[in-house]
Amino acid sequence: MKISISSMLSLKEKFKEWIRKQPCLICGQESTHAHYTKRGYGGMGMKGHDLIAHPLCPVHHGEQHEIGIASFKAKYKNIDFDWLVTQQIVDFLESLFDD
Ligand SMILES: [Zn+2]
Ligand SMILES: [Zn+2]
Repeated sequence: MKISISSMLSLKEKFKEWIRKQPCLICGQESTHAHYTKRGYGGMGMKGHDLIAHPLCPVHHGEQHEIGIASFKAKYKNIDFDWLVTQQIVDFLESLFDD
């Protein structure tokens, strides 16, 4: 299967639209902004990755920027961010087949 650049871009846009409708990862509140991490998994060599996105309400989004992602993850260590990010990509892909 060949995927064109333009279909990849529209997939990204769909993902961004979808992620905005997801509840906050921390408190479940529904009005969220997505926070996009600057790096993907693996660090070096992987540039910013739109699929690594955390839906967060304004309060938790602000807090995340204030204390930094490492402290944020430490504070909410009962939340498995990496698992949730993977899970939301799966949910998103499933949502593509809903319409
Ligand atoms: Zn929240
Ligand atoms: Zn952010």
